[in-house]
Amino acid sequence: MTRPLPERVQAAARAMFDLTVRPITTPMTEAEMRASLSDFDGVVPTLGDLYTPAIFAAVPDQRCRLLANFGVGYNHIDVSAAREAGITVTNTPGAVTDATADVALTLMLMSARRAGEGERLLRAGKWEGWHPTQLLGLHLGGKTVGIVGMGRIGQAIARRCHFGFGMSVAYHSRSPKDLDFPARRLETLEALAAAVDVLVLAVPGGAETHHLINAEVLAAMQPHAHLVNIARGNVVEEAALIHALQSGQIAGAGLDVYEFEPAVPEALIAMENVVLLPHIGTAALEVREDMGLMSVANLKAFFAGETPPNLV
Ligand code: NAP
Repeated sequence: MTRPLPERVQAAARAMFDLTVRPITTPMTEAEMRASLSDFDGVVPTLGDLYTPAIFAAVPDQRCRLLANFGVGYNHIDVSAAREAGITVTNTPGAVTDATADVALTLMLMSARRAGEGERLLRAGKWEGWHPTQLLGLHLGGKTVGIVGMGRIGQAIARRCHFGFGMSVAYHSRSPKDLDFPARRLETLEALAAAVDVLVLAVPGGAETHHLINAEVLAAMQPHAHLVNIARGNVVEEAALIHALQSGQIAGAGLDVYEFEPAVPEALIAMENVVLLPHIGTAALEVREDMGLMSVANLKAFFAGETPPNLV
């Protein structure tokens, strides 16, 4: 395990394997990455452990046969390079869906209703009491949410918006979806951006979605609209987002992920109309336990000679 996972997960792994837990919480260094491939049969890596083609190439006769990723997003692993090296990759879909959708709704509400700004005002001792035109935000009820990437998390967000807030749902996805709630599919990202009050990103990271949200898409959004990103930081061209916020092209943004995280641009921190969370989409003990137990189940099946349940 490349980071300490919850004790329940470590215990489950220890019951089946000779377990080594790397005791620190930062991503592995390149030397550690190479050692993970040469010294272990299976690895449970996670976000920030960058398995690039160069890392696989640097360890030609690697011992490792499985990367049982902790997390549904695996854009830090070059899956085709892993395959070429004869290494199988698995992930933890499903376990993260509801918790991440909840954080998307947290960001939608905080951004639209100016909750961060209000809390900062109060904590700074600057609140002078209620008045009828103070901190007026965007009411979400009856508005339209646009989902970019109508997969597991996208659908869980859309369901919360439709059934919980009476919002209309529009989306853009590579393929049409058979959904259990009403939703309009728009052919282009720009058309979706122009049609909605809140644009929420729920696509995987990686080369295909890099800077999917660029200056053109942001320019298509309405000036009262908000952008929410719970996907991966580099889905958004951060410099273009800063420009769109500073110039009033959009009203606000709620972010859980950043292009160069953990670095967060000062320009974002300085703006009142931006909500900044430290990548807490799945940060609840039972969720992290479920994710870890899925990784262990993948390890167990693989080393029993079976097909792991969550092959990437
Ligand atoms: P998923 O079920 O695979 O859904 C991803 C969706 O994105 C699919 O519907 C897919 O469309 C769509 N998509 C992919 N590329 C696209 C593109 N270029 N344009 C438009 N749509 C595209 O994955 P998930 O479980 O919902 O997770 C989504 C992502 O959320 C993960 O990969 C991860 O990076 C991120 N995440 C973040 C956190 C956090 O802590 N903030 C937590 C969990 C996950 P098709 O169905 O047509 O293929």
